[in-house]
Amino acid sequence: VGCKSEEKMVSDSTYMLGTYLQLSVWTSNEAKGMDIIKTAFERIKEIEDKMSANIDESEIGQINQNAGRDYVEVSEETSELIKKAVHYAQVTDGAFDPAIGKLVKLWGIGTENERIPSEDEIRDALSFVDYRKIEFQGENKVKLSEPEMRIDLGGIAKGYAADEVTKIMREKGIKHAIINLGGNVVTLGKKTDGSSWKIGIQDPFEPTGTHMGIIEAHDQTVVTSGNYERYFIQDDKRYHHIIDPKSGYPAENGIVSASIITNSSTDADGLSTSVYVLGLDKGMKLIESLDGVECIIITEDKKVYLSSGLTGRFQIINNSFQIVN
Ligand code: FAD
Ligand code: MG
Ligand code: MG
Repeated sequence: VGCKSEEKMVSDSTYMLGTYLQLSVWTSNEAKGMDIIKTAFERIKEIEDKMSANIDESEIGQINQNAGRDYVEVSEETSELIKKAVHYAQVTDGAFDPAIGKLVKLWGIGTENERIPSEDEIRDALSFVDYRKIEFQGENKVKLSEPEMRIDLGGIAKGYAADEVTKIMREKGIKHAIINLGGNVVTLGKKTDGSSWKIGIQDPFEPTGTHMGIIEAHDQTVVTSGNYERYFIQDDKRYHHIIDPKSGYPAENGIVSASIITNSSTDADGLSTSVYVLGLDKGMKLIESLDGVECIIITEDKKVYLSSGLTGRFQIINNSFQIVN
């Protein structure tokens, strides 16, 4: 009676895009909050149905099945995201490559088919990884020039889904939310008390949920690529899911995780995978060349490298890690 309506957190989680998704919104109307989350999950499902490389009927599946043969007309959003992925391939000179599909399937990391392929198999698959052979025609027609080429948007589509969910929440009037699509985090607004969100950066050497540091953020995204997300170990060696298109093997350059902080989660997703493959020097150089994009790179010797805009914004909470610059 007479008191102003308090905003409460409404939260739900599910499993899609091969990962755990959690959405939390702050609202004075819980039913409406739950409804918005439901709409967001439906939108993610729609994106998965269009863009999954594991679904034959998806638009990506159709492009892959018609490889070397026909153009496939896809939706504008799928064609735009492929173009964006090709853009990151160009910017990274192919370290990021959306035509990585055949290699991803061959390694099968995170699936029941995971194994170390033979050198012949890797050489063969490598010859079909080349973003320059993704052809575009008219508005939204896409074709792969060779029959064995395969597109895989696993390195960027989760970020796109996070941006789309953010858009829905904004349109529905939500002022405070945390969107977490399997480690692709978006902060919408600030916390209800007016302070910034504190986003934990995963400790690459500890179980999921253990943080090594904290970054403050609002209306920004924090996206991490790490060697601890999907991997298997054989003969004491770790084989993870971020593949270097130059070697055909999991990227091995001393990096264990790369986090990107910026406004667009699509960009952050593409860039986190890119930086992971490029390695410390080239990766940091790329990030420093981009306005409004920051990164945290952790190497296997527990050194932490911050881009120039992060000074004072990132705080270590586990002193076995050491900020180098
Ligand atoms: P990121 O670093 O962002 O991306 C790594 C992923 O990008 C790899 O898994 C691979 O897919 C791809 N990749 C590897 N190397 C490169 C490279 N050099 N350049 C470009 N891309 C590269 N997982 C399941 O287990 N089952 C599913 O059914 C399933 N469906 C999915 C559907 C969609 C639409 C999406 C986006 C993802 C799906 N996934 C699924 C998860 C997917 O396979 C990846 O594991 C996940 O997207 C990786 O995200 P990440 O943030 O861990 O790593
Ligand atoms: Mg990621
Ligand atoms: Mg990525």
